[in-house]
Amino acid sequence: MRFRRSLVAAVLIVAGCSSHGAPSGVHGSATAAPPPGRSAAATDRDFDGIRLPVFASPPPAEPVTAPSGALAPMYRRLAVHQRVAFLTMDDGQVQLPTAGSLMAAAHVPFTMFLIGPVAAKNPPFFERLVGEGGVIEDHTLTHPSMRGLPYATQRYQICGARDLLRTTFHSTPRFFRPPYGNYDENTLRAVHDCGLQAAFNWTETVNNGKVYYQTPVHRIEPGDIILMHFRPAFVSDVTAALTAIHRSGLTPALLENYVN
Ligand SMILES: [Zn+2]
Repeated sequence: MRFRRSLVAAVLIVAGCSSHGAPSGVHGSATAAPPPGRSAAATDRDFDGIRLPVFASPPPAEPVTAPSGALAPMYRRLAVHQRVAFLTMDDGQVQLPTAGSLMAAAHVPFTMFLIGPVAAKNPPFFERLVGEGGVIEDHTLTHPSMRGLPYATQRYQICGARDLLRTTFHSTPRFFRPPYGNYDENTLRAVHDCGLQAAFNWTETVNNGKVYYQTPVHRIEPGDIILMHFRPAFVSDVTAALTAIHRSGLTPALLENYVN
């Protein structure tokens, strides 16, 4: 897989795209003909008999600027002017051995909001996903519903997970997602005070291979944030999310590149 991956990266560079893992998260084009000698375009996006969408390269990111102040901003979508959407994955308890290979085949950037101690119990699983385009962010220590909890408790949950994830993965989270999407002003104050930049909820959810739209258009719109989880249906959830993004004429982009 590693060897094949480096070949793919080399081919993408030759084709004028940046390699996988570059900050802009640029990937192969759906319409470009494969370079000479490369008929692997289809197999690159096949996983265990599933045909994964192939995406056009996202443009260089035009990030939104998070407002400054004592409270971190909360976004459920980003007001972008580019045809991109953001794939996010929460919690981390169900760690399918095939998740790394799937994300390698999918070749898209994604953001993981992880419960600190859950992630810290199996670093290799999540490190592999980081190697396949994932970024690890903060989703508390014990996954409480934060709304209504005292400020000190919320701060402990957010700063504690930040510290544990930083120690475990040698990278400091920038973003936070409140469990169940439940938050209040103390949450946003604690996010800010823990040195994180922004909090995120979502516009679509994915479960058991089905996308649930929260607007009547039944389409993923530019700037939408899609929520899925590390669950037994991980493969069909990733496939459903990517298929929906592709059908909407969008390209997955990395959330971290879109907030300054
Ligand atoms: Zn969660």
